[in-house]
Amino acid sequence: MVSPEVQDWKGVASYTGRMEVRGGMVYAAIPYNVQTKKYGGMGLDFSYSIAVAEELGNIHCGGVPMAIGVQTDMATPALTRFGSDELKRQFLVPTIAGEVVACLGVSEPGAGSDVASIKTTAVRKGDDYVINGGKMWITSGCQADWMCLLANSSEGPPHQNKSLICLPMNLPGVSIAKKIDKMGMRSSDTAQIFFEDVRVPSKYRIGEEGMGFTYQMFQFQERLWAVANILAPMENVIQETIDYTRQRKIYNQPVLHNQTVHFRLAELATEVELVRSLLYQAVALYIRGNDVTKFASMAKLKAGRLARELSDNCLQFWGGMGFTNEVLVSRLYRDSRLLSIGAGADEVMLSIICKYMETLPQKK
Ligand SMILES: Cc1cc2nc3c(=O)[nH]c(=O)nc-3n(C[C@H](O)[C@H](O)[C@H](O)COP(=O)(O)OP(=O)(O)OC[C@H]3O[C@@H](n4cnc5c(N)ncnc54)[C@H](O)[C@@H]3O)c2cc1C
Repeated sequence: MVSPEVQDWKGVASYTGRMEVRGGMVYAAIPYNVQTKKYGGMGLDFSYSIAVAEELGNIHCGGVPMAIGVQTDMATPALTRFGSDELKRQFLVPTIAGEVVACLGVSEPGAGSDVASIKTTAVRKGDDYVINGGKMWITSGCQADWMCLLANSSEGPPHQNKSLICLPMNLPGVSIAKKIDKMGMRSSDTAQIFFEDVRVPSKYRIGEEGMGFTYQMFQFQERLWAVANILAPMENVIQETIDYTRQRKIYNQPVLHNQTVHFRLAELATEVELVRSLLYQAVALYIRGNDVTKFASMAKLKAGRLARELSDNCLQFWGGMGFTNEVLVSRLYRDSRLLSIGAGADEVMLSIICKYMETLPQKK
């Protein structure tokens, strides 16, 4: 959900990981030993989140794991890292306990890939921010108790004028415009939300004023979570396709006995293992405090593309059955399409990789 551009970056006071600034870009490693124990968490490193994300992939739909992932690894990492103790007690403790639902409010109708161009404002008035604008595509937005909101909190360059704010969703002026009707992830609620003169205490801001864009960039770990979560569905669909094509006979022989079928399935299984290897490499580096933005972007790019290719190829081998809503493969075909779009489209991933390769033309 974030662009990698952090121009004229000025530093993150509470940030404790390794970081480097090259050519106006921040290359930052995320601290792995985030202390959540004090707030009801288990204090485990990110590899445990990845193990859970992988296992949740065995749920036979994408929407339920995504809702859990938003709560654990998309709406809360910035609060955990940069929020005040008071803010964490108010919002993080009940979120970790599962007593409240969190959502992440970054995208807007006019700003998805280009996060810097969001229009929602949080104008300081006394001890409050007054929020106006709206958010789009907000997972769990219809039922969330609070939103990790990205808004423009001052004038100035677009990478330095934003703040992240914990916004209770029951405040006057917050309205759910609609629940969006989607082709996939249908069990997940996706909301369009408007804000009209919503007053929120300024102490609900996460960390420093003007650092919202940078903090949001650090929440990129959601991409690794999404990669981990798609592995089991891909493996399960390959296995179900093997089982189905083994018993389905055409011209007196199982569909699976056609070399084009079993070779294709072998090829796809190999590619799933390649994505898994890249994911594990990125996670191993990440929990040791390294910057894995490039590897995370590569993994999400390949996982999104493979999920599309795999679900399409396997669906073909099911014939008409693959076109029904009765089988897992058609669900993967619909649900997994999001991976190449959400949390940064494939093209955004390519731009990030290019920036790290220093091949992207500099903006004038
Ligand atoms: C089901 C669902 C759930 C979501 N959940 C959330 C959520 O909880 N919170 C949240 O804040 N957002 C959420 N999003 C928003 C999601 O992150 C955005 O959809 C995504 O960032 C893309 O933004 P966009 O839809 O505005 O597409 P646009 O920004 O309009 O991009 C359209 C297309 O342009 C192309 N493109 C973009 N950049 C480039 C480039 N540099 N070069 C070439 N082509 C390019 C890509 O093909 C891209 O798909 C969700 C979206 C969906 C569909």
